[in-house]
Amino acid sequence: KFRLRYAPSPTGFLHIGNTRTALMNYVFAKHFDGDFIVRIEDTDLERNVDGAIESQFENLNWMGIIPDESFLKPGLAKYGKYMQSQKFDRYKQLALELVEKGDAYKCFCTSEELTADYEKQTEQGIVATQYNKKCLSLSAQELADNDKTNKPFSIRFKVPLKSWNLNDMVRGDVIFYGKDLGDFVILKTNGIPTYNFAVVVDDFDMEITHVIRGEEHISNTPRQMMIFDAFGWTYPRFAHLTLIVDSTGKKLSKRSGNNLFFIEQYKKQGYLPQAIFNYIALLGWSPGVEQEIFTTDELIKIFDEKRFSKSPSTFDMVKMTWINSQYMKALSDDDYLNFVKPFVDQDKFNLTNKSEDWINQVLLLFKKEIDFGVQINEKIGLFFENFEFNEITKEQLVQFENRLGLINIFEDKIRQLEEWNIENIKNIIKNSGTEAECKGKDLFMPIRIYASKTEHGPALADCIFLIGKDKVLENIDFVKN
Ligand code: GLU
Repeated sequence: KFRLRYAPSPTGFLHIGNTRTALMNYVFAKHFDGDFIVRIEDTDLERNVDGAIESQFENLNWMGIIPDESFLKPGLAKYGKYMQSQKFDRYKQLALELVEKGDAYKCFCTSEELTADYEKQTEQGIVATQYNKKCLSLSAQELADNDKTNKPFSIRFKVPLKSWNLNDMVRGDVIFYGKDLGDFVILKTNGIPTYNFAVVVDDFDMEITHVIRGEEHISNTPRQMMIFDAFGWTYPRFAHLTLIVDSTGKKLSKRSGNNLFFIEQYKKQGYLPQAIFNYIALLGWSPGVEQEIFTTDELIKIFDEKRFSKSPSTFDMVKMTWINSQYMKALSDDDYLNFVKPFVDQDKFNLTNKSEDWINQVLLLFKKEIDFGVQINEKIGLFFENFEFNEITKEQLVQFENRLGLINIFEDKIRQLEEWNIENIKNIIKNSGTEAECKGKDLFMPIRIYASKTEHGPALADCIFLIGKDKVLENIDFVKN
């Protein structure tokens, strides 16, 4: 059974990049009926951010990326803990095991000594500076002395002079040579493992079969492979997804233009989780067909690991927003109303004296027009008391010569109308046009502006109907003066 994992460090919140990683692992696992695991890589205690884990889980959950196993829902005991900070003893024991076997060694160099040596190497023009292996050749006596005085040590991996082929699922053959990699620390002086070590122990303990992650990790992978080798463990298959870039070609980050980097921000703007899932699934992976709208189940079904893209993918807000609008349009009226209502700005629009039915009718007018939830606030203003009439709209009126004649007729008919319904309103508009001898824009525009105080809005009769008789008369009076 395939087992894949998303392994966030709790140093930040869920954003487009790490969501893509989580999603690909999830879709891959589910395509093969496998397990999707979330484990927390919190070894860098100082960089942990409060609330980051909870928020990541909440947002993953919101998008339907639900782990089969996590610290909230552990699997079999043999898989171990799902939080690295709870496994420090195990990492230490295994690191010492490698020292026993001769694949790693204790390093007593102080950080001052190391810095001085790296500086020396840099002065000599060495670009990829490496540890000078001083502690590799300590005598038995020196080692014993250091142990006796409890001299602090880290543990370094002894990089073999071999080569490794990543056989990456995205890039194919990628060869790394041991001579290019210095002996690296696997356990720090404070007893805490480094990322490269802990990740291998966990991937082994959790029986991970495939590792899908961002290409920023590719240089770590040979280091991980040599640790797998040292223990005699088989490594998972690796896939390093290409970068996600913004429209300027730079790696997508918090600083990328539109400021919508974190999933939480989209949630607040009123994007639908399925739409975000759909869009992000297409970043760095291609379905191989023209179709762009897919449900999660469809994506899981058609997923094919051979279609990871080999070039960077551009994050396109406009495209994502378009996909969201498609999802909004496809909602049932009830689902749309439930979704959009919480986004109505209650400070701006007083709903307390409005009936549920009226609110629903107003919101439904814009179901096909808005691309995401908060946009509703740009649309519904004309239905509320505090809506302002602006000068630009007023200037528009000048071009309609016959407007006053028309509006007087229209106003009269509205005042006399007894049964307030859309059909009757439509007839009034039509008959006013006939009597005032105007049609098309000359008919609709003046009526729209006088009745609703704006030149924009949904179908005219719907607008007038929902604004209500008294308010329409009040508007006409206002615009006239
Ligand atoms: N904790 C690592 C990160 O957040 C995970 C890397 C991996 O998937 O191995 O980048």
